Amino acid sequence: MKKVIIVGAGPAGVLLAHYLLRRGTQYKIEIYERRSDLQKVSLANSRTIPYGINDRGLRALRKIEGLEAAVKATCVENHGSIIYQKNKILENRSKKKYSFNTDRTSILIALLSQLTEKSDNKVEIHYDCKCTSVDFENKTLTFEKVKGTVPQNQAEFTVDYDLLIGADGARSIVRTHLLNTEFFAFQQEYASACYKTVFLSSNKEKTSKSLKPNYLNIWRIEEGITFGIVPQLDDKFIGILFFPQKPNKVVNLSTKEEVMAFFQQNLPEVAPLISEEEAEAFLKRPIGTQLRTRCDRYHYGDSVLILGDAAHAVSSSLGQGCNNAFEDVLIFDSLLDEYSDEWATALEQFTIRRRPDAYALWELDTNVIPASKTLFTEFILRESLAKMMNKLFPQFFVPPLRELLSASTVPYSDILKSYQGWISKVKNSKKKFLN
Ligand SMILES: Cc1cc2nc3c(=O)[nH]c(=O)nc-3n(C[C@H](O)[C@H](O)[C@H](O)COP(=O)(O)OP(=O)(O)OC[C@H]3O[C@@H](n4cnc5c(N)ncnc54)[C@H](O)[C@@H]3O)c2cc1C
Repeated sequence: MKKVIIVGAGPAGVLLAHYLLRRGTQYKIEIYERRSDLQKVSLANSRTIPYGINDRGLRALRKIEGLEAAVKATCVENHGSIIYQKNKILENRSKKKYSFNTDRTSILIALLSQLTEKSDNKVEIHYDCKCTSVDFENKTLTFEKVKGTVPQNQAEFTVDYDLLIGADGARSIVRTHLLNTEFFAFQQEYASACYKTVFLSSNKEKTSKSLKPNYLNIWRIEEGITFGIVPQLDDKFIGILFFPQKPNKVVNLSTKEEVMAFFQQNLPEVAPLISEEEAEAFLKRPIGTQLRTRCDRYHYGDSVLILGDAAHAVSSSLGQGCNNAFEDVLIFDSLLDEYSDEWATALEQFTIRRRPDAYALWELDTNVIPASKTLFTEFILRESLAKMMNKLFPQFFVPPLRELLSASTVPYSDILKSYQGWISKVKNSKKKFLN
């Protein structure tokens, strides 16, 4: 029996545990997670974020019995989006095929409770254990117990592995150690948008006046500042405010009165949905930053693999990161089938097969949605035209870009090829701006 250590109980790590469990007794699976068990933390304290799950992610869940249904039970259907700019509707887009809205904590609780049920507690999950270093040659990991009263001699401990999976997110410690291996190229950059979440009142009378149910409601407040509201189960809504890192009117907010005034001035239709307690909680929440990363190898020898955000993180702008992480797991599982669980080849093939799509998603993530108002308006017009042409002549015209991203499983590299013209245009506009 091979001992598989998964670092990180995020969407990628937990879904992979499901898939490995299905492969029978050949693997002993242990997960180590630096945070506490989400099943024991309240939603508001879990630092959750709203998620859109689409066909790409659902296809990966579907292969494990009961998982798609368990995740969908945490979701509401997403019928489209409505974008406002200066009190006017800039776009009202209905989806041909619905996707699903939920939040990170709810999706993880669904995945974890299914895992506990299915594994009969055979998959060990160690919470509050932060991986601090990896020794690829001796196949050991060092962890630090981060919470609770732990005797001094147990605060740090070492674990050995046969196979190591780094599913530890955009700031992966496992990937950091890959940097010390030969010919490993890595790049990272911060997305210009930082974010903070806002939990809105679920008073149906108030929300029905200002929000279109089952739709993403998005306000472009000014260049760089956007507010999105994502419907959730039980008539709840999670808002998310994106803003630049440089000093601006969001970063400068310092009292709950200022927070209330900000929403009243910029989003009068949303302000009544924010309670004073929420305004105070909003101030205390840390500012979220978003990393984009890419590397040219996702494995080391026959025993180490990184996947999900650890391998290729993107910003939230297209809502793809989690869906892509799920797709990683699906593809890795198919490679284990193809190579009869012979890890040396399966790992190498994973790098070869995933890299073109990860690179393409980086390009799309950076360039699909332009910051400038004029180009954004052009983008909306192009999308409407693409929708019409695809409807009239489906054999000659591909669906609109956002439809390909949110309602298909077309590989990202093919989507990029179809829309290379637009991506180059946005890229060039940024270059002009910088020069
Ligand atoms: C604001 C926002 C909105 C988003 N919206 C969407 C969306 O709508 N749709 C979508 O598909 N994606 C979305 N994403 C992206 C999505 O969150 C990520 O792509 C997804 O979570 C990746 O999953 P993962 O398991 O690879 O990594 P993570 O979710 O980052 O999980 C990694 C896990 O590893 C743990 N960990 C990290 N370091 C260590 C360590 N040293 N030791 C032990 N454990 C460790 C972390 O605590 C975490 O639990 C959004 C992201 C943001 C920021």
